[in-house]
Amino acid sequence: MRISNKARQARQVKQKQIKRAARKQHRAAAAALDKRLSGVKPARTWLDSLQPSANAAPKTRYKVAIIGGGPAGLFTAWGLLNAGHEVTVLERRPDWRGADADSLRSFNITLDSFGLRAIGEPLASIICAFSTRVDGRAIVPDDARERPIRTHRYGWREEHCLYSVPRQDLLRFFTEQICDHSRCRLQFDAEVTPPTPGVCKDGRVQWEVRGQKLDEVFDLVVFCDGYNGHGRHLMRVRSDGADDVAEAISYVKVHITPAEAAALKLPPGKIIFFPRRGGALVIALPNFDGSLSALVEDKFRDLYDTDASEPVFKDLAAAQKYANERLNRRLCKAVPGLVDQLVGKRRQEFRTATSHCLRSGKVAWLGDSVTSTPPYAGFGTNAAGYQAALIVTALRTSETLDAALTRYERDGKSIQQPIINIVKAQGDILSGEMGSRCWWAGVRWSQLCARLGRPAPYFQVAFDADGLARLAGIETPMPLTART
Ligand SMILES: Cc1cc2nc3c(=O)[nH]c(=O)nc-3n(C[C@H](O)[C@H](O)[C@H](O)COP(=O)(O)OP(=O)(O)OC[C@H]3O[C@@H](n4cnc5c(N)ncnc54)[C@H](O)[C@@H]3O)c2cc1C
Repeated sequence: MRISNKARQARQVKQKQIKRAARKQHRAAAAALDKRLSGVKPARTWLDSLQPSANAAPKTRYKVAIIGGGPAGLFTAWGLLNAGHEVTVLERRPDWRGADADSLRSFNITLDSFGLRAIGEPLASIICAFSTRVDGRAIVPDDARERPIRTHRYGWREEHCLYSVPRQDLLRFFTEQICDHSRCRLQFDAEVTPPTPGVCKDGRVQWEVRGQKLDEVFDLVVFCDGYNGHGRHLMRVRSDGADDVAEAISYVKVHITPAEAAALKLPPGKIIFFPRRGGALVIALPNFDGSLSALVEDKFRDLYDTDASEPVFKDLAAAQKYANERLNRRLCKAVPGLVDQLVGKRRQEFRTATSHCLRSGKVAWLGDSVTSTPPYAGFGTNAAGYQAALIVTALRTSETLDAALTRYERDGKSIQQPIINIVKAQGDILSGEMGSRCWWAGVRWSQLCARLGRPAPYFQVAFDADGLARLAGIETPMPLTART
């Protein structure tokens, strides 16, 4: 079916309107963050007290290169500076904003008590102050009628919840905390060149800033460059560094405005699932401004024979056909602009992959470069926070760098396997049809346990720090002590 020029123009106008609205919301959200932070009393003193200590004197002061300034890199930088080490963060982005800053999308990451507890107080409290509390899931039935929305809590106690932070806010907050520190060199626009295994093991890092090539030797190189970074490739050099990949899911990102979210009458503080039997699963995370950032998850690779570099839907007709056949009907009814948003977008993919290789020579791996989980699991940022705390503690308590890295690997390994087991089980449940036997068994079990006042392992294990720590045989996640 051909689209007329008139229809194409109308679509372009609509897309411009959506972008303009998103930009306005983003500005409003940024202003709201400033207001929230300045409302914290006494704001400036408290914020200053969160900056890493300038006077800490460790037994040995290491010179550390951190490759990647995402959440894992910034958590680690904050922790290492606070412990008195010298830190260089190399980040390819031109500033603190995320890769999808252009689209002005407010993208949530979630932190539960595991991640927050690892980061430590009072930093954890201030992150909570600009977060949205998410205490469960809501499932919106796939029909145009007003069947009730089902909700499920994550656990049976008040504290069983996630804190959802707009990605931009978290990156900006941490960047501001470390950028002026006397022992920190934060280098944006820095593209680290692929290291050869031998060179990097010796601590040598090469990078390029605006055409200028730089080269330096560090005591320790920490790869925090994400799932597709050089770190993960380098890891394969070690014989036992092979990935344990559980699943690969493709998705397209969409945005639901506050007005559209209001029209859906969604319960507050929930991650929203819009399933369609035999079709796509749309997972939406609540943003501060009332809008939702959503992922349309589907087998795009099997359904459409398109290359990952090409848009999944080239025109409105194809997107509309897809929506009719595979998207939740209640969502489509409340968000008519959803189909427009699908046109011209490329599919992206995430995988679950963890490795048992956390160090080699003077190199350590952290965050998604070693533990990569699907977004709905809520583990990514938590694992990064936890690993950052582990490496800082290992450096503080060990006599030599080698002993510290061995300890980091030993302690870090203990959470890798439980994470992948949990994510594997979650993946089966969530990428299968909602309402599957497995899902309902979990829900019923949890409800029964709640009635009896007993722990409900199904939900707890997936989202609660204590459950994970118990599985991993860890007493409690190691706290970092912030300067007060
Ligand atoms: C769509 C989606 C939704 C998600 N939702 C959630 C969620 O709700 N909750 C949650 O906990 N997690 C979520 N995650 C996972 C979460 O985003 C990651 O776990 C987290 O970002 C990992 O942080 P990181 O710092 O390890 O890696 P990244 O965030 O990937 O950061 C890596 C950084 O390294 C930089 N870099 C890479 N290569 C180089 C180089 N050669 N030179 C210099 N710099 C380089 C990159 O620019 C980037 O800034 C989601 C992921 C996706 C894809």
